[in-house]
Amino acid sequence: MHHFDYRDGVLHCEGVSLADIAARHGTPAYVYSRATIERHYDVFKAAFAPRTVLIAYAVKANSNLAVLAALAARGAGADTVSAGEIVRALKAGVPPERIIFSGVGKTESEIEFACANAIHQINVESIAELDMVEAVARRAHARPGVAIRVNPAIGAGAHGKISTGGEDAKFGVSPQDALALYARAARSSHLKAQGLAVHIGSQIRDLSPLAEAFGVVRRMAEQLRGEGMGVERLDLGGGLGVPYFNEPDPPPPAEYAAMVERAFAGMDIDLAFEPGRLIVANAGILLSRVIRVQTRAAAPILVVDAAMNDLIRPAMYDAYHDIQPVREADRGAARAAMDVVGPICETGDTFARARPLPPLAAGDLVAFMTAGAYGSVMSSTY
Ligand SMILES: *Cc1c(COP(=O)(O)O)cnc(C)c1O
Repeated sequence: MHHFDYRDGVLHCEGVSLADIAARHGTPAYVYSRATIERHYDVFKAAFAPRTVLIAYAVKANSNLAVLAALAARGAGADTVSAGEIVRALKAGVPPERIIFSGVGKTESEIEFACANAIHQINVESIAELDMVEAVARRAHARPGVAIRVNPAIGAGAHGKISTGGEDAKFGVSPQDALALYARAARSSHLKAQGLAVHIGSQIRDLSPLAEAFGVVRRMAEQLRGEGMGVERLDLGGGLGVPYFNEPDPPPPAEYAAMVERAFAGMDIDLAFEPGRLIVANAGILLSRVIRVQTRAAAPILVVDAAMNDLIRPAMYDAYHDIQPVREADRGAARAAMDVVGPICETGDTFARARPLPPLAAGDLVAFMTAGAYGSVMSSTY
């Protein structure tokens, strides 16, 4: 579900013509639907009712300040992976008590910054990092909440580059090491050991690896409690997939939430989630103008003014983005297979090969759909 639709033959975003946006602001341009973002956040939250959960939106999926502010106004928290993202979240109005600091590369000054801003939780990913967080906390006379990120050796996700839970992934520590680290954090007077965290990948379309990973953290939390330690909360990460095009829909939030309730049935514990893609993916499009159509012996080439530096997902992950003409094609218009490329001097600057498209000419506008997550944030000046 999203708020991009044709009105009088022109693709609109929430009643605003994309042709007007292109005329006013030029192309290429990312356009986001606030109502879609809010709707996805509300649906995810409602899926867990009556349980209240912390929904810490994964800022890296789309860190646009207006996007963050819309989510902050809805009550969302933020999952961040750098001091820069914490600054953005705070600036957008996310209160520190809803900010989680994740990532394998937190530097000393970033940890100091997190302590100084009393953010909710630091998800510690290694022994060396725990030492650093403790040393910083001691110096700063702070007592940050920490969770230990578990790598359950269960990978998932649509592409090797976005699977984070496998045994050889760089994220988190083994369940055995995590138990030892948690015990150390629980003994420290400078740290507040509050939970375990897990995030096994992105664009996950099957709930079973998630259920398996949640089972691992549940058993770990029970073991820690059995040994007399307090475990207040579990951070279950993000990763739920979205439909990109013409594929069976991934499980909806309600099914995901039902799986979570089964996984934690009978356990009194606070839960946090870090959805990114699910909230923003189909709330954004990349608007682009056709520069020219090149004919050749093979499929014709549609050259557009957006390129891999604007949207790298096809080049990086072989990702599929639906391409819609902004002026609606005539009903029954013949579709012809075209290669869709940007202007950059690399063969990798190809959005689609042999894509069936209605007739398009220089000056026409197209929309790359479902570009709201890992689109603009991954753009470069290439
Ligand atoms: C990337 C990331 C997320 C968000 O993943 P999505 O697939 O966008 O939901 C959540 N948590 C952590 C730790 C991440 O690195």
